[in-house]
Amino acid sequence: MPTKPLERLIFAQGGLCFFCDEPLPIGEASVEHLVASAKGGDSNLENCVACCKTVNTLLGSMSLKQKFQVVLNQRGEFKCPARKAKVPAPKTSVKLPTVAQAKSERLKLVVDKLRERGDLRPKKLTSLRNFIATQFGNKLTDKELDALLNGLQSAGTIAIDGTKLTYDL
Ligand SMILES: [Zn+2]
Repeated sequence: MPTKPLERLIFAQGGLCFFCDEPLPIGEASVEHLVASAKGGDSNLENCVACCKTVNTLLGSMSLKQKFQVVLNQRGEFKCPARKAKVPAPKTSVKLPTVAQAKSERLKLVVDKLRERGDLRPKKLTSLRNFIATQFGNKLTDKELDALLNGLQSAGTIAIDGTKLTYDL
């Protein structure tokens, strides 16, 4: 059995805040004296409820009449002032593509861009290389560019004849 007044109140209230009916973790909870201690209110359980700390602060030492007004003004939809966000922030573990995935995605992008180009595709290997480099903001290494050119070739997307290029998109 819970022994502390706050724990007993939460237990008696089914683990919910007296005012807003939301689950009330003990860390968010406090004892609200319905008739404020400052106004002679008792600390016995009849005069106390467990509620969100935030609403306890809001109600402060209002008279019981004022508290009724606050509660009634909410028309049955009582929400305690914002507690800490209940929804945990989504974990932002961005999955980085593996090297193989990155390469196949790059290849796909290059093929798409070449298709868009139609007849204006680079006619030479060097200009294709520059074209690809441009698509990636010139951020790819020579190795990565070579890998892409090899990928295009082995997929049959380009055929190299000397310095001339033919496309099969
Ligand atoms: Zn509450």
